[in-house]
Amino acid sequence: MILSGLDPSGGAGIQADIQTATALGVHPLPVLSCLTVQDTRNVYGATAVDADLVRRQLECLAADTPFHAVKTGALGNAEIVEVLADFLDAYPDIPLVVDPVIKAAGGGDLADDALVASMRGTLFSRARVVTPNGIELAQLGGSDDPDEAAARLLAGGCRSVLATGGHGTGENIINRLYREHEADREWALERIGGEYHGTGCTLAAGIAAGLAQGLGLEQAIEQAQVCVLGAIRQAIAVGKGQPVPGRYVPRADQP
Ligand code: PLP
Repeated sequence: MILSGLDPSGGAGIQADIQTATALGVHPLPVLSCLTVQDTRNVYGATAVDADLVRRQLECLAADTPFHAVKTGALGNAEIVEVLADFLDAYPDIPLVVDPVIKAAGGGDLADDALVASMRGTLFSRARVVTPNGIELAQLGGSDDPDEAAARLLAGGCRSVLATGGHGTGENIINRLYREHEADREWALERIGGEYHGTGCTLAAGIAAGLAQGLGLEQAIEQAQVCVLGAIRQAIAVGKGQPVPGRYVPRADQP
């Protein structure tokens, strides 16, 4: 089950989530949180979906359909976060992956202070993993030192934090998993170069799909990382801004 926003350029948001889950063989249940005005360069505005409509969709779906993981992206507003948190009270064992989307790569806002506060207060402690990029980690953890910021998030109730390094500049992308009671785990991935629209969404949706399939967290992260790298390799220039990862299921006649 996915709660995220619509990016009409098809790069990030719910389309990225749907394509990623589908490519990994998982059927997505997409619930829209907000509609953005956006192209491949930036976000210029966003309107949240009515929170009561979201509540009704969640209840309607849950009454009909088993679901095995929940993934969140941009959440629209604090009211929607509260609706989701109330809904999740009935499902404490379903793994939740929170991609704490705050800003688009181009700098446009996707969350106000109330949404961020609500996400921290009600979703982080329920999440199997929270997946901030470097900018989100610094903002949420109140420090430019990633280790310190992640330690603060863990102390604040997060069970695990996957700090993603895609927006860095090093030779490799370093993704680092911080956990409460276990040693950190780090992955160094090939940096293909450039900035792509919707890679954070792809990674988090891929992790949620793996958890829904019954993988452990580390395996789910590894599967999602392979998925992101593959999608970047087949990225397409949709507009004048960031290329969009090609999250397609290979055709039967393709190698
Ligand atoms: N969700 C929506 C609806 C967005 O518009 C964006 C970015 O523009 C994101 C999430 C985050 O995208 P990324 O995966 O690039 O962090």
